Amino acid sequence: MSATIIDGKAVAAQVRAEVARGVAAFVAGSGRAPGLVGIQVGDDPASELYQAGKARAAHEVGMVSRRITLREATSQAELDAIIDELNADDGVDGVLVQLPVPAQLSEPLIASRIHPDKDVDGFSPISLGRLMRGEPGNVPCTPQGVMRLLGEGGVPLEGAHAVVVGRSLIVGKPQSMLLLSANCTVTIAHSRTRDLPALCRDADILVAAVGRPEMIRGDWIRPGAAVIDVGINRTADGLRGDVAFDEVAAVAGWITPVPGGVGPTTIAYLLANTLEAARRRSGADSSQGVRL
Ligand code: NDP
Repeated sequence: MSATIIDGKAVAAQVRAEVARGVAAFVAGSGRAPGLVGIQVGDDPASELYQAGKARAAHEVGMVSRRITLREATSQAELDAIIDELNADDGVDGVLVQLPVPAQLSEPLIASRIHPDKDVDGFSPISLGRLMRGEPGNVPCTPQGVMRLLGEGGVPLEGAHAVVVGRSLIVGKPQSMLLLSANCTVTIAHSRTRDLPALCRDADILVAAVGRPEMIRGDWIRPGAAVIDVGINRTADGLRGDVAFDEVAAVAGWITPVPGGVGPTTIAYLLANTLEAARRRSGADSSQGVRL
């Protein structure tokens, strides 16, 4: 193996410690702790686990965290009413709705309903617009985690060719904007891209956010490139990323493992976003994304 493994668990622990210090300072200044509320509709076991993990993590850094679990048959109007209440609650800085939601609910309507200042997932049209415009606002957590991992690994960004495989609103598109803001030259690839292996071989930085186990092979990689694996795929052999780890690690300069890479940083940046939202709402900060 030639690649340096970027340890997402260690980076996430660092981010959480920074957030905990920030929360302590916020409490000292404002007399209240930042508040995060997670809403879950239905009792999907994976959603349950994610929600519990987020609530625990928020509690650990000193935030007030609350979980609201609604019955599977909850209507859009009922959910909207709850979101409206949280939007109006001064003690709440971050509101998130665990995805996916049951079919009678609309993800775009939910994303638009959460007040953009409290939209700590960063999925609302206003938040995504602010990201595009380079204005202060909430930035999706996973792409922020990826930027931090690149930073901690010491990967040169300026002028680098970054290829992002995947164009979802949650990962691929915001990731591309953040890489662009860091002065990378960015290519976004997707399922209709021609000759993906050749395109990937031209990448100095390759971010895989596809959802296909071990699709990215060793001979797709430029020697010395940084490969960030966002994919989380449950297979019969256990959890796998989008990257064939052993093959790619033999060629790349840096690589993130699955598990223990991007995943842990996502929750850490949810906490960071909540702290930042609290600061912004109190008029104390006006940065785009998180400045820890
Ligand atoms: P989506 O399914 O929303 O998007 C997948 C993207 O991959 C699409 O743009 C799709 O292209 C593209 N794609 C699919 N097949 C191919 C292919 N054969 N070649 C090239 N591109 C392809 O997924 P998400 O963005 O939500 O998530 C991606 C992965 O990241 C998943 O494994 C998910 O579990 C994981 N994830 C991990 C997180 C973490 O914290 N680590 C957080 C969020 C997601 P097209 O648009 O043309 O269909």
